Amino acid sequence: MAHAGDNKAIKDNLYKELELQLDLAIQGISVDAEEINKLSSDHTNALLSADASSPLAFNFVDGKIKGSGFDTGFRHQDNSIYGLESEEGKPVIYKYGKNKSRVGEIEFRNKIRHPLLDLTTRDGVPFHTIASVREDGQVHVNYSQECVLKEKGEDCFFCNYSVRNATLKTPQQVGEVFSTLYEAGVGKHLNLTSGFLFERKELDYYLDVADEIQSRTGLKEFRATAVVGAPLDFSVIDKYKEAGYFSIRMNIEIWDKNIWNTICPGKRNHCGGWDNWVKALEYAVDVFGKGRVASNIVGGIEPKNSILEGIEYKASKGIIGSASTWRAVVGSVLEGHRSPETAWHFDLQQKIASLYKRYGFSFSDLHNVSPSAGLATTIYQIEQEDFDDNGVLTPWQYPTSLKGEPASVLYL
Ligand code: SF4
Repeated sequence: MAHAGDNKAIKDNLYKELELQLDLAIQGISVDAEEINKLSSDHTNALLSADASSPLAFNFVDGKIKGSGFDTGFRHQDNSIYGLESEEGKPVIYKYGKNKSRVGEIEFRNKIRHPLLDLTTRDGVPFHTIASVREDGQVHVNYSQECVLKEKGEDCFFCNYSVRNATLKTPQQVGEVFSTLYEAGVGKHLNLTSGFLFERKELDYYLDVADEIQSRTGLKEFRATAVVGAPLDFSVIDKYKEAGYFSIRMNIEIWDKNIWNTICPGKRNHCGGWDNWVKALEYAVDVFGKGRVASNIVGGIEPKNSILEGIEYKASKGIIGSASTWRAVVGSVLEGHRSPETAWHFDLQQKIASLYKRYGFSFSDLHNVSPSAGLATTIYQIEQEDFDDNGVLTPWQYPTSLKGEPASVLYL
């Protein structure tokens, strides 16, 4: 077992690696077609198969942070200070500048689709078009790629999510795919999300998915996070809980009320305003309990103090507040803007991790509200010294629940 002095060195190295991963996520990586052709065919195929909807996760071959938690999707960015080069067919990252330096060899993850995703639903749709499965057992479903706020011209300024006339996956398809993965012990926690549906029909949709899962698995409560907008009528929140959902996420996106009013016009106009959103979160803790309610802030649009004030307020009420790392995406109102520097984001995440500790959230809590509380979760884990003697962080895995056993018993 490593002693305290060793642990400090291990933690320092893990922080260095994590901050580098964050910098790569913010700056992106440039890749020349010529270099792609020099890679071995499996690396080339992995790179070419990635797109915005299925990012290619990677880690450093000599790194200590493997598996998911903070997902480092490989992001192409022309003219980045980082570039990918081939060394004997292996992908290696370089940093350019006055003195070009070798950062390290990387390996791509998640290249193999689980065989169960090659099955088809009762109505003939391939599973892999309905859901994806992460290495930690999280099943991710975007049930529609359309958000009605876009149609109304009221979409959130940082978002480019919506695709017009996107296919709506049926609740039966979603329930069938998750139940199959769950019963095979492959899928352990469902993250069910989308934009806003017409006439706020999300509730009906979530209830229908729950019906399908319950009738297929026999579970009264199942591990799933419903990602929804704040309702006007709070009794709706009770319905999600009664339907069997394990946790709920209502992303407020911005904490400063005035900035929120500008950046999130649709949420302002259709969800009862900022005060209603905060009250809905507090109500949800009464229904779901501490650590089973989450709300994200898009980190980098408003001042850091405001974000931290929001996260601390929520933590004091039992709500897990996270901050994602904003990058201005093409097609959003904020396209062309710049995110703050990497050091700004890293400092923010370190402060959030210490708030999680101060307010008594556990490592499981931070994952119970999928898709997890992001980068601060990994910092929290480093602070907990949850690594082996070689300094490799323990990869997170959702617990396996067995048919017929109530999840609440298994996951206390
Ligand atoms: S972030 Fe806003 S605009 Fe984007 S999908 Fe969600 S509600 Fe719609």
